Amino acid sequence: MNIHEYQAKAVLKEFGVPVSNGRPVFKAEEAEAAAKELGGPLWVVKSQIHAGGRGKGKFKEAEAGEKGGVRLAKSVDEVKQFVGEMLGKTLVTIQTGPAGKQVNRLYIEDGSDIEKEFYLSMLVDRETSRIAFVVSTEGGMNIEDVAHDTPEKIVTFSVDPATGVMGHHGRRVAKALGLSGDLAKQAEKVVSQLYAAFVAKDMEMLEINPLIVGKDGKIKALDAKISFDGNAMYRHPDIFALRDETEEDAKEIEASKYDLNYITLDGTIGCMVNGAGLAMATMDIIKLYGESPANFLDVGGGATKEKVTAAFKIITADPNVQGILINIFGGIMRCDVIAEGVIAAVKEVGLKVPLVVRLEGTNVELGKDIIAKSGLNVISADDLDDAAQKIVKAVRG
Ligand code: GDP
Ligand code: MG
Repeated sequence: MNIHEYQAKAVLKEFGVPVSNGRPVFKAEEAEAAAKELGGPLWVVKSQIHAGGRGKGKFKEAEAGEKGGVRLAKSVDEVKQFVGEMLGKTLVTIQTGPAGKQVNRLYIEDGSDIEKEFYLSMLVDRETSRIAFVVSTEGGMNIEDVAHDTPEKIVTFSVDPATGVMGHHGRRVAKALGLSGDLAKQAEKVVSQLYAAFVAKDMEMLEINPLIVGKDGKIKALDAKISFDGNAMYRHPDIFALRDETEEDAKEIEASKYDLNYITLDGTIGCMVNGAGLAMATMDIIKLYGESPANFLDVGGGATKEKVTAAFKIITADPNVQGILINIFGGIMRCDVIAEGVIAAVKEVGLKVPLVVRLEGTNVELGKDIIAKSGLNVISADDLDDAAQKIVKAVRG
């Protein structure tokens, strides 16, 4: 689960991490009071969307001006102007895709005078099963480019969970960033605060780009992006309350209500599969035959008729879907239950695109029989290869 920058900064502040003062605004009328409270003389007006690259982003609407999604303002009037220009407009960044994201919230911050910009991130490293730090002197830049062009400028290390974060970790970060004296001390403190926040809140990823040294000699997190472990959110109602569903895919939200593992993709073939491994194999074989999946969908081992119906509705509601492939292995779940679910769903929502069904496993004959006798226009397939070829042929007309 992701949250906005201003929310991430509030979370980090609880752990003592230095951040600028700021005020979120949801309506243009709130801008003046927020700017006056902060006092100036420099403000930053920041678009709040769940995507990075805002500073270099561009608005789709000409009225929003040419300045990108993060703007420095030198007066209250300028703050008001930028808020008016950006609020409600669509920001396109390298991370939003060409459709962009509507800016419904802005964050007005005290502007900082920057001496140096660094990069710092933390993530759960699956290879070492530890929390890893990634730091670089090349802050404010696209870290993927730094990793590609000058990998020697990126320092990574992981923290042993048995000891937790220790002094030497902080010193390692300070050294990597070329800091000494008081600045090194500040960096070491921030490292331990970030680690504490990361563990306490079950974060999955935390990125501070840039972490700055200000002209005032203070280290500060000037940007913050946090992803939390969705499976741990039951332990953090305070974090879960920060969820902004307008930033998420409506189909994915609907799927989560039924405990379906669903992810929207950009192809044309809707997939309904049980088991993540089988779902990935199904997507691969669709690609092999030259088409692309419109989604990843694992209905799970214990799918009920209701779940199958919900899944079917989500797939058919997607305008990109030109054909559907249902590929179910009846192990825990019986093929006849799936067949009944499919028929109930088709009867309820209708079928405007070709549907290929491949069933295998427990009660497979019964399942096939139910589909055959339903009178619905369903193409039956015998194995994965056959199913993939049939759906690709069907969508190509
Ligand atoms: P991003 O583009 O989505 O990563 O948004 P950031 O929060 O990182 O802001 C983009 C850039 O704006 C930063 O890399 C800084 O260079 C600049 N910026 C942000 N806040 C300030 C500030 O307080 N003062 C100054 N001078 N620049 C800032
Ligand atoms: Mg940034």
